[in-house]
Amino acid sequence: MKYRYLIALGSNQPHHRYGNPRQVLAATLQQLDCKSVKLLSASSVIESAPLGPSSRRYANAAVLVKTRLSPDDLLSQLQHIEDKFGRNRRGQRWGPRVLDLDIVLWSEGAFASPDLIIPHPEFRRRSFVLTPALDVAPAWRDPITGLKLRQLHFRLTRRLTIPHRLP
Ligand code: ADP
Ligand code: MG
Repeated sequence: MKYRYLIALGSNQPHHRYGNPRQVLAATLQQLDCKSVKLLSASSVIESAPLGPSSRRYANAAVLVKTRLSPDDLLSQLQHIEDKFGRNRRGQRWGPRVLDLDIVLWSEGAFASPDLIIPHPEFRRRSFVLTPALDVAPAWRDPITGLKLRQLHFRLTRRLTIPHRLP
């Protein structure tokens, strides 16, 4: 198995068979571990507030996998799993979705093709990606900023308190 990937999982819509978003993610883990992709570790599932116009809560998780698949081939496999969960691609960008699978990082650094950008361009600003990612790869270094995931998470979540008046 040549490569390692960090994958972000998200769901904010129940599935008629698998159940609520948390259960959708649990079922996804089984789908992810197959002949060509080995699941190395999975984070716990977190629930977070909705993003954009969607009013549903999200369940999010992150996994570490190893595989020989190239980024584009892995993306096709992930999209195939999204489709199995009934994802409607014509839907609204931030709308309800049964399953969203994004490639966040891979072991070879940066990657770009017409359909895929790695590192995922938004991940540094998304605590619902960074928080679960810390469970599985806290010391993984973002090739663009040179910062470890735990440093990116700290940078995103710390609150700088600026005193109004000096004592
Ligand atoms: P989002 O995940 O941003 O909410 P979608 O899941 O609908 O939106 O993805 C839209 C497109 O983003 C996909 O068709 C895919 O080609 C592209 N894409 C670009 N970079 C990535 C990445 N790192 N992981 C997953 N999809 C990506
Ligand atoms: Mg996506």
